[in-house]
Amino acid sequence: MEELEEIKTFKNLEDYIISKNLCCSCGACVAYCESQSFDIIEMENYIPKFKTNKTSEDCRECGFCYYICPQTDSLIDKINGVHLVKDEIGNVSDVLAAKTNDLTIKDVGQDGGIVSTILTYLFETGRVEAAVVSEFDEAFKPVPKIIYNKEEIINSAGTRYSISPNILPLKDLYKIAEDIIQTRKNVYDVDQLRLAFIGTPCQCRAISKMRLMNLKPSHVIDFVISLFCFENFDYEKLMDILQNKIEIKPSNIKKIQIKKNMFVTSKDDKEFEINIKDLDNAVRNHCLECDEFVGKYSDLSIGASGAPAGHSIIVIRSDKGKSLIHSLIADGYIEKYKIPPNQIADWKPKKLNWLRKMTSIKVKR
Ligand SMILES: Cc1cc2nc3c(=O)[nH]c(=O)nc-3n(C[C@H](O)[C@H](O)[C@H](O)COP(=O)(O)OP(=O)(O)OC[C@H]3O[C@@H](n4cnc5c(N)ncnc54)[C@H](O)[C@@H]3O)c2cc1C
Ligand code: SF4
Ligand code: SF4
Ligand code: SF4
Repeated sequence: MEELEEIKTFKNLEDYIISKNLCCSCGACVAYCESQSFDIIEMENYIPKFKTNKTSEDCRECGFCYYICPQTDSLIDKINGVHLVKDEIGNVSDVLAAKTNDLTIKDVGQDGGIVSTILTYLFETGRVEAAVVSEFDEAFKPVPKIIYNKEEIINSAGTRYSISPNILPLKDLYKIAEDIIQTRKNVYDVDQLRLAFIGTPCQCRAISKMRLMNLKPSHVIDFVISLFCFENFDYEKLMDILQNKIEIKPSNIKKIQIKKNMFVTSKDDKEFEINIKDLDNAVRNHCLECDEFVGKYSDLSIGASGAPAGHSIIVIRSDKGKSLIHSLIADGYIEKYKIPPNQIADWKPKKLNWLRKMTSIKVKR
């Protein structure tokens, strides 16, 4: 007779993932456990842990934290099936380049400003009530947040190349949602909220596992947008290197971009270049083991790699993602890049091959 697999719990997550520095600090385990009011685990300095020795004894041993963790092998075959993943870049329905037509977003967006423009559209057309994004504090440290309006979209635009545990704020969904219900007449029930989720590929993988099992609080997520991601840096180590190499204080950073090397723009618009190799010691350990670059478990994947200047590459994966992008183009929110006539035949295959190449460079390092 086939033996039943033993249920794995948070103690196993500690042994196999957290103690081996493979935790990507997505926050999924804590968000799930807390939203069930189990009161067992918390995030401290980007690491999930039992709240006290006593709570470790109170753990229900339900095992969900282990199964939804993006760093465990659990459920990967199943989410591959749901997202029709057959290779390293996942299911692709279409690929295009585009840029925003919104002048405010153009100023603050990282690349083509596509992510912020999509969020604007989703809010303005009432297709979502909220979104999970990453803002940042006065020291350029990422702060994950659930947002409700355009002003907050602008505050979250741009990239911070350090971990933002974007799933974590969902632990407070039932508390935060009270605000929305009071201000919006069309939402009577927290469970009816619709959210867009923006995150790194590892975070989108966790969301996909949670949605597969219809686990709260992921049940309110309606759109998933993955950012391309080659690597992520430890915030303290990155800021130390920037301070040592270019003598910039975190509070004076306006923008950071990576184009082969890292480029840092200060608030008085001076630009500094840092050799990407000088940042090797700041790369988070779990990123060195990561095999996703594009974000396979999403409706749309968005990044700059391979994009014409000022544009973003958009990989469309689902029907929902496709109709969203078509509406944004038709309604003038974004402008699609016109491929030069002599490149039309091989533009798309070239872009997809580039994404495959980036993924393989990442895996091989
Ligand atoms: C850690 C990291 C590494 C990346 N590496 C690459 C790469 O190697 N190649 C590439 O082409 N693209 C990479 N990207 C994606 C790229 O930087 C842009 O986010 C993407 O091109 C979208 O640009 P945009 O102008 O459309 O986004 P915008 O309109 O500027 O919106 C950016 C969105 O990113 C979110 N965000 C910002 N920082 C974080 C964070 N730390 N974690 C989670 N979400 C965040 C914000 O919430 C915002 O919604 C990376 C992104 C991150 C966060
Ligand atoms: S109660 Fe369940 S979700 Fe919470 S820590 Fe224990 S095994 Fe994980
Ligand atoms: S679910 Fe996320 S935060 Fe929790 S152990 Fe796994 S990677 Fe870390
Ligand atoms: S490189 Fe991989 S593990 Fe690291 S943040 Fe990006 S998606 Fe997550």
